[in-house]
Amino acid sequence: MILVVGGAGYIGSHINKRLYQKGCETVVFDNLVYGHREAVRWGILETGDLSDTERLEEIFEKYNIDMVFHFAAYAYVGESVTEPSKYYNNNVANTLHLLDTMVKYHVKTIVFSSTCATYGIPADMPVTEDMEQKPINPYGASKLMIERILSDYHKAYGLNYCCLRYFNAAGADPEGEIGESHNPETHLIPLILAAAAGDREAVKVFGTDYPTRDGSCIRDYIHVTDLADAHLLAMDYLQRGGESLCMNLGNCKGNSVLEVIEAAREITQKEIPVVLDKRRPGDPPVLVGSAEKARKILGWEPEYGDIKVILRDAWNWYCQKKF
Ligand code: UDP
Repeated sequence: MILVVGGAGYIGSHINKRLYQKGCETVVFDNLVYGHREAVRWGILETGDLSDTERLEEIFEKYNIDMVFHFAAYAYVGESVTEPSKYYNNNVANTLHLLDTMVKYHVKTIVFSSTCATYGIPADMPVTEDMEQKPINPYGASKLMIERILSDYHKAYGLNYCCLRYFNAAGADPEGEIGESHNPETHLIPLILAAAAGDREAVKVFGTDYPTRDGSCIRDYIHVTDLADAHLLAMDYLQRGGESLCMNLGNCKGNSVLEVIEAAREITQKEIPVVLDKRRPGDPPVLVGSAEKARKILGWEPEYGDIKVILRDAWNWYCQKKF
């Protein structure tokens, strides 16, 4: 049995589906604060919070857990600056509860959802794993702390891990069964699609004076299904006895905000009204990740790298959203 912590959320639910398709049995543990009950269409759902160690132990008693995928975290960068306590308690302290429970029940393998936000403002592009990690907000810092904790737990308790540092997760299940649904929504692609659908008046472009080809920020958008594939490969790798490590997951290719909007106009065939706005504090101008390490070590080959494919699947989901 595989425990998918945070499996009712955007990325976790896609990995849960992929695990099911591969014939794995899963139990999703989620507090449903941001996750959706309807997103857990495969495996078993157990509700609960990681702060509740008794409830967590109940799960480890009830199921014969072989390994853990850990997606449960708060992920609003701006909020992490104004409410760091919320982020350090949920993302760090609660993860410690999970790891300590794993150690207690002799569960030795974990795939952890990390982020390119651990790098802060990288000195060079594309970002490689050996670059300095200097997060510029509590969200990124909380994820980096867990990376450090995992490394220490590995040495002391033999916990084996893969930290996967995502660049900009985007898109939706190509079969349209699940997709991205945040409340509040702050991510670029769902906001663009909301403007395309007429659910919002316009999409704001945060900053048009960056030192980039068109002045707007560049990000490396990676299809959530490609992320799911990488997680399954990471699981196989650890189960084969692979050494514990951290890896970037991205396409090594950037799209600017304005390019994403233009591609969305083409995919949706809709007008997308735009408001040019000031920079959002804390946004690095460019973030593009090299996933050479994941390619070499896991044999990972992203299939849906084209921004139009990402937008196609996201739009398909947006038009028939189930939650
Ligand atoms: N962005 C934007 N308008 C929005 C939301 C985001 O211009 O309404 C920009 C943001 O500044 C960043 C990119 O889109 O450069 C991706 O932002 P998102 O919040 O989706 O992900 P992040 O890169 O912050 O993880």
